[in-house]
Amino acid sequence: ATMPPLLSAIANAGRHGVLVKSAVVMERLGQVDAVALDKTGTLTEGTPRVTDIRPLAGSGLSEDELLRLAAAVEHPSEHPLARAVVDAARTRDLDVPLVEGFTSAPGTGVSALVAGRAVAVGSPTRLLGAGTHRALAVATGLEEEGRTAVLVTADGSPVGVLGIADRLREEAAAATSALGRLTGSAPVLVTGDNPRAATRLADEVGITDVRAGLLPQDKVAAVKALAQAGRKVLVVGDGVNDAPALAAAHTGVAMGRAGSDLALETADAVVVRDELATVPTVIALSRQARRLVV
Ligand code: ADP
Ligand code: MG
Repeated sequence: ATMPPLLSAIANAGRHGVLVKSAVVMERLGQVDAVALDKTGTLTEGTPRVTDIRPLAGSGLSEDELLRLAAAVEHPSEHPLARAVVDAARTRDLDVPLVEGFTSAPGTGVSALVAGRAVAVGSPTRLLGAGTHRALAVATGLEEEGRTAVLVTADGSPVGVLGIADRLREEAAAATSALGRLTGSAPVLVTGDNPRAATRLADEVGITDVRAGLLPQDKVAAVKALAQAGRKVLVVGDGVNDAPALAAAHTGVAMGRAGSDLALETADAVVVRDELATVPTVIALSRQARRLVV
Protein backbone atom coordinates (compact mmCIF):
# COMPACT_ATOMS: atom_id res chain seq x y z
CA ALA A 1 0.00 0.00 0.00
CA THR A 2 1.13 3.59 -0.52
CA MET A 3 1.55 5.57 2.68
CA PRO A 4 -1.00 8.30 3.42
CA PRO A 5 0.56 11.72 2.63
CA LEU A 6 0.69 12.92 6.25
CA LEU A 7 2.48 9.75 7.35
CA SER A 8 5.01 10.07 4.53
CA ALA A 9 5.48 13.67 5.59
CA ILE A 10 6.22 12.53 9.17
CA ALA A 11 8.81 10.09 7.85
CA ASN A 12 10.25 12.86 5.69
CA ALA A 13 10.37 15.28 8.63
CA GLY A 14 12.23 12.56 10.53
CA ARG A 15 14.83 12.41 7.77
CA HIS A 16 15.26 16.17 8.15
CA GLY A 17 15.83 15.68 11.88
CA VAL A 18 12.42 16.67 13.27
CA LEU A 19 10.30 14.31 15.34
CA VAL A 20 6.64 15.14 14.64
CA LYS A 21 4.50 13.44 17.26
CA SER A 22 1.32 12.72 15.25
CA ALA A 23 -0.43 13.10 11.90
CA VAL A 24 -2.60 15.82 13.42
CA VAL A 25 0.51 17.81 14.33
CA MET A 26 1.95 17.22 10.87
CA GLU A 27 -1.20 18.75 9.44
CA ARG A 28 -1.33 21.68 11.87
CA LEU A 29 2.28 22.73 11.20
CA GLY A 30 1.25 23.95 7.76
CA GLN A 31 -1.56 26.11 9.16
CA VAL A 32 0.51 28.45 11.34
CA ASP A 33 0.42 32.14 10.42
CA ALA A 34 2.35 33.70 13.33
CA VAL A 35 5.64 32.77 15.00
CA ALA A 36 6.99 33.36 18.52
CA LEU A 37 10.66 32.48 19.03
CA ASP A 38 12.49 32.02 22.32
CA LYS A 39 16.03 33.45 22.54
CA THR A 40 18.38 31.38 24.68
CA GLY A 41 18.74 27.89 23.21
CA THR A 42 16.45 28.63 20.29
CA LEU A 43 17.96 31.54 18.34
CA THR A 44 21.24 30.97 20.18
CA GLU A 45 23.19 27.74 20.38
CA GLY A 46 22.25 27.12 24.00
CA THR A 47 25.81 26.57 25.21
CA PRO A 48 26.56 29.91 26.90
CA ARG A 49 29.93 30.69 28.50
CA VAL A 50 30.84 32.82 31.50
CA THR A 51 32.71 35.85 30.14
CA ASP A 52 32.87 38.14 33.20
CA ILE A 53 33.23 37.52 36.94
CA ARG A 54 32.67 40.69 39.00
CA PRO A 55 32.68 40.41 42.79
CA LEU A 56 31.29 43.62 44.28
CA ALA A 57 33.61 45.81 46.31
CA GLY A 58 32.78 45.15 49.94
CA SER A 59 31.65 41.57 49.36
CA GLY A 60 35.04 40.32 50.47
CA LEU A 61 34.90 37.71 47.70
CA SER A 62 37.56 36.91 45.12
CA GLU A 63 36.55 35.99 41.55
CA ASP A 64 37.02 32.32 42.37
CA GLU A 65 34.98 32.56 45.58
CA LEU A 66 32.11 34.28 43.78
CA LEU A 67 32.13 31.68 41.00
CA ARG A 68 32.31 28.83 43.53
CA LEU A 69 29.27 30.14 45.40
CA ALA A 70 27.27 30.58 42.18
CA ALA A 71 28.26 27.16 40.83
CA ALA A 72 27.20 25.46 44.06
CA VAL A 73 23.67 26.85 43.73
CA GLU A 74 23.49 26.26 39.96
CA HIS A 75 24.72 22.68 40.17
CA PRO A 76 21.27 21.05 40.49
CA SER A 77 19.72 23.29 37.75
CA GLU A 78 19.27 22.18 34.15
CA HIS A 79 19.12 25.77 32.81
CA PRO A 80 21.72 26.58 30.10
CA LEU A 81 22.99 29.49 32.24
CA ALA A 82 23.48 27.07 35.13
CA ARG A 83 25.60 24.81 32.96
CA ALA A 84 27.74 27.78 31.92
CA VAL A 85 28.43 28.66 35.57
CA VAL A 86 29.21 25.07 36.57
CA ASP A 87 31.51 24.61 33.56
CA ALA A 88 33.39 27.83 34.39
CA ALA A 89 34.00 26.60 37.95
CA ARG A 90 35.20 23.26 36.60
CA THR A 91 37.57 25.01 34.17
CA ARG A 92 39.12 26.85 37.11
CA ASP A 93 39.38 23.59 39.11
CA LEU A 94 37.25 24.98 41.93
CA ASP A 95 35.77 22.49 44.30
CA VAL A 96 32.08 23.21 44.42
CA PRO A 97 30.34 22.58 47.76
CA LEU A 98 27.05 20.67 48.01
CA VAL A 99 23.96 22.70 48.83
CA GLU A 100 20.74 22.18 50.76
CA GLY A 101 17.19 23.29 50.05
CA PHE A 102 17.62 23.99 46.33
CA THR A 103 14.69 25.80 44.70
CA SER A 104 14.25 27.11 41.19
CA ALA A 105 11.91 29.82 39.89
CA PRO A 106 11.59 29.56 36.09
CA GLY A 107 12.43 32.86 34.40
CA THR A 108 13.94 34.24 37.60
CA GLY A 109 16.73 32.08 39.00
CA VAL A 110 17.74 29.58 41.64
CA SER A 111 18.51 29.59 45.34
CA ALA A 112 19.89 27.30 48.04
CA LEU A 113 21.75 27.17 51.33
CA VAL A 114 25.53 27.09 50.99
CA ALA A 115 27.28 26.42 54.29
CA GLY A 116 24.41 28.08 56.14
CA ARG A 117 24.14 31.15 53.88
CA ALA A 118 21.05 31.69 51.71
CA VAL A 119 22.46 32.24 48.23
CA ALA A 120 20.41 33.24 45.19
CA VAL A 121 21.56 33.41 41.57
CA GLY A 122 19.39 34.94 38.87
CA SER A 123 17.97 37.89 37.01
CA PRO A 124 19.23 41.15 38.55
CA THR A 125 15.93 43.00 38.16
CA ARG A 126 13.85 40.07 39.39
CA LEU A 127 16.04 39.66 42.49
CA LEU A 128 16.53 43.36 43.29
CA GLY A 129 13.64 45.15 41.61
CA ALA A 130 14.34 48.44 39.88
CA GLY A 131 16.53 49.77 42.69
CA THR A 132 19.67 51.85 42.48
CA HIS A 133 22.09 49.28 43.81
CA ARG A 134 25.66 49.33 42.48
CA ALA A 135 25.11 45.71 41.34
CA LEU A 136 22.43 46.86 38.90
CA ALA A 137 24.83 49.33 37.30
CA VAL A 138 27.38 46.55 36.82
CA ALA A 139 24.67 44.31 35.35
CA THR A 140 23.38 46.98 32.97
CA GLY A 141 26.92 47.63 31.73
CA LEU A 142 27.33 43.94 30.87
CA GLU A 143 23.87 43.80 29.25
CA GLU A 144 24.71 46.75 27.02
CA GLU A 145 27.56 44.61 25.68
CA GLY A 146 24.99 41.94 24.78
CA ARG A 147 25.64 39.70 27.78
CA THR A 148 23.14 38.08 30.10
CA ALA A 149 23.96 39.41 33.55
CA VAL A 150 23.34 37.10 36.48
CA LEU A 151 23.28 38.47 40.01
CA VAL A 152 24.54 36.58 43.06
CA THR A 153 23.16 37.48 46.48
CA ALA A 154 24.11 36.07 49.90
CA ASP A 155 21.61 36.44 52.76
CA GLY A 156 19.74 38.96 50.61
CA SER A 157 22.71 41.24 49.81
CA PRO A 158 24.30 41.43 46.35
CA VAL A 159 27.85 40.03 46.35
CA GLY A 160 28.63 39.95 42.64
CA VAL A 161 27.57 39.73 39.02
CA LEU A 162 28.46 37.22 36.30
CA GLY A 163 28.36 38.04 32.59
CA ILE A 164 27.31 35.18 30.32
CA ALA A 165 27.26 35.12 26.53
CA ASP A 166 25.89 32.66 24.01
CA ARG A 167 26.54 32.51 20.27
CA LEU A 168 23.82 33.12 17.76
CA ARG A 169 23.02 30.01 15.72
CA GLU A 170 24.66 30.21 12.33
CA GLU A 171 21.31 29.70 10.59
CA ALA A 172 19.25 31.95 12.94
CA ALA A 173 18.77 34.88 10.55
CA ALA A 174 18.00 32.70 7.52
CA ALA A 175 15.57 30.50 9.47
CA THR A 176 13.83 33.55 10.95
CA SER A 177 13.28 35.12 7.56
CA ALA A 178 12.14 31.78 6.06
CA LEU A 179 9.57 31.50 8.87
CA GLY A 180 8.41 35.03 8.15
CA ARG A 181 8.05 34.32 4.45
CA LEU A 182 6.20 31.00 4.91
CA THR A 183 3.76 32.28 7.54
CA GLY A 184 3.31 35.73 6.03
CA SER A 185 4.03 37.46 9.34
CA ALA A 186 7.16 38.79 11.02
CA PRO A 187 8.36 36.52 13.88
CA VAL A 188 8.21 37.86 17.44
CA LEU A 189 10.99 37.35 20.02
CA VAL A 190 9.71 36.24 23.44
CA THR A 191 12.43 35.99 26.08
CA GLY A 192 12.99 36.00 29.80
CA ASP A 193 16.33 37.70 29.25
CA ASN A 194 16.94 41.44 29.61
CA PRO A 195 15.70 43.87 26.93
CA ARG A 196 19.20 45.19 26.11
CA ALA A 197 20.72 41.80 25.21
CA ALA A 198 17.44 40.73 23.56
CA THR A 199 17.28 43.78 21.29
CA ARG A 200 20.91 43.44 20.26
CA LEU A 201 20.34 39.86 19.21
CA ALA A 202 17.01 40.66 17.52
CA ASP A 203 18.78 43.27 15.38
CA GLU A 204 21.20 40.62 14.18
CA VAL A 205 18.45 38.24 13.03
CA GLY A 206 16.08 40.89 11.71
CA ILE A 207 13.35 40.74 14.38
CA THR A 208 11.74 44.07 15.28
CA ASP A 209 9.03 42.87 17.69
CA VAL A 210 10.92 42.11 20.94
CA ARG A 211 9.16 41.09 24.17
CA ALA A 212 11.81 40.78 26.90
CA GLY A 213 11.90 40.15 30.65
CA LEU A 214 8.98 37.73 30.36
CA LEU A 215 8.05 35.16 32.96
CA PRO A 216 6.67 31.82 31.70
CA GLN A 217 3.09 33.06 32.15
CA ASP A 218 3.92 36.27 30.24
CA LYS A 219 5.01 34.15 27.27
CA VAL A 220 1.61 32.39 27.47
CA ALA A 221 -0.17 35.76 27.55
CA ALA A 222 1.75 36.89 24.44
CA VAL A 223 0.73 33.71 22.60
CA LYS A 224 -2.89 33.99 23.73
CA ALA A 225 -3.10 37.64 22.62
CA LEU A 226 -2.00 36.61 19.12
CA ALA A 227 -4.49 33.70 19.16
CA GLN A 228 -7.28 36.05 20.20
CA ALA A 229 -6.42 38.23 17.22
CA GLY A 230 -7.21 35.16 15.13
CA ARG A 231 -3.67 33.88 14.59
CA LYS A 232 -2.47 30.29 14.64
CA VAL A 233 0.75 30.67 16.57
CA LEU A 234 3.85 28.54 16.18
CA VAL A 235 6.03 28.66 19.32
CA VAL A 236 9.64 27.49 19.16
CA GLY A 237 11.40 27.12 22.52
CA ASP A 238 13.61 24.91 24.63
CA GLY A 239 13.33 25.72 28.31
CA VAL A 240 11.19 24.77 31.28
CA ASN A 241 10.11 28.42 31.06
CA ASP A 242 8.82 27.81 27.51
CA ALA A 243 6.67 24.77 28.36
CA PRO A 244 3.46 26.70 29.20
CA ALA A 245 3.77 28.72 25.96
CA LEU A 246 4.45 25.55 23.96
CA ALA A 247 1.25 24.10 25.44
CA ALA A 248 -0.76 27.28 24.67
CA ALA A 249 0.49 27.45 21.07
CA HIS A 250 -1.45 26.26 18.04
CA THR A 251 1.72 24.23 17.39
CA GLY A 252 4.69 23.99 19.77
CA VAL A 253 8.16 22.96 18.61
CA ALA A 254 11.02 22.26 21.05
CA MET A 255 14.73 22.42 20.33
CA GLY A 256 15.94 18.97 21.31
CA ARG A 257 19.63 19.06 22.15
CA ALA A 258 19.68 21.64 24.93
CA GLY A 259 15.95 21.35 25.56
CA SER A 260 14.54 20.59 28.99
CA ASP A 261 12.58 17.35 29.47
CA LEU A 262 9.43 19.32 30.19
CA ALA A 263 9.69 21.28 26.93
CA LEU A 264 10.30 18.11 24.90
CA GLU A 265 7.29 16.38 26.49
CA THR A 266 4.99 19.37 26.07
CA ALA A 267 5.91 20.22 22.49
CA ASP A 268 4.05 18.80 19.48
CA ALA A 269 7.30 18.29 17.60
CA VAL A 270 10.98 18.11 18.58
CA VAL A 271 13.95 19.34 16.55
CA VAL A 272 16.41 16.48 17.07
CA ARG A 273 19.11 17.59 14.63
CA ASP A 274 19.59 20.91 16.45
CA GLU A 275 19.16 23.10 13.39
CA LEU A 276 16.57 25.84 13.45
CA ALA A 277 16.34 25.72 9.63
CA THR A 278 14.51 22.39 9.92
CA VAL A 279 11.44 24.26 11.30
CA PRO A 280 10.55 26.10 8.06
CA THR A 281 11.34 22.85 6.24
CA VAL A 282 8.67 20.89 8.14
CA ILE A 283 6.12 23.67 7.60
CA ALA A 284 6.73 23.34 3.87
CA LEU A 285 6.44 19.53 4.12
CA SER A 286 3.09 19.91 5.88
CA ARG A 287 1.78 22.22 3.18
CA GLN A 288 2.86 19.75 0.50
CA ALA A 289 1.18 16.82 2.28
CA ARG A 290 -2.04 18.76 2.82
CA ARG A 291 -2.24 19.53 -0.89
CA LEU A 292 -2.13 15.77 -1.49
CA VAL A 293 -4.73 15.03 1.21
CA VAL A 294 -7.43 17.37 -0.07
P1 ADP B 1 14.92 32.66 27.77
O1 ADP B 1 13.46 33.00 27.68
O2 ADP B 1 15.77 33.64 27.03
O3 ADP B 1 15.22 31.24 27.36
P2 ADP B 1 14.73 32.20 30.70
O4 ADP B 1 13.29 32.59 30.86
O5 ADP B 1 15.06 30.76 30.82
O6 ADP B 1 15.35 32.84 29.32
O7 ADP B 1 15.53 32.99 31.77
C1 ADP B 1 15.27 34.36 31.95
C2 ADP B 1 16.21 34.96 32.94
O8 ADP B 1 16.00 34.37 34.23
C3 ADP B 1 17.65 34.72 32.62
O9 ADP B 1 18.15 35.68 31.71
C4 ADP B 1 18.28 34.84 34.00
O10 ADP B 1 18.44 36.18 34.34
C5 ADP B 1 17.22 34.24 34.91
N1 ADP B 1 17.45 32.81 35.19
C6 ADP B 1 16.61 31.79 34.96
N2 ADP B 1 17.12 30.61 35.37
C7 ADP B 1 18.35 30.89 35.86
C8 ADP B 1 19.41 30.10 36.43
N3 ADP B 1 19.33 28.78 36.61
N4 ADP B 1 20.53 30.76 36.80
C9 ADP B 1 20.65 32.09 36.64
N5 ADP B 1 19.70 32.87 36.11
C10 ADP B 1 18.55 32.30 35.74
MG1 MG C 1 15.30 29.19 26.21
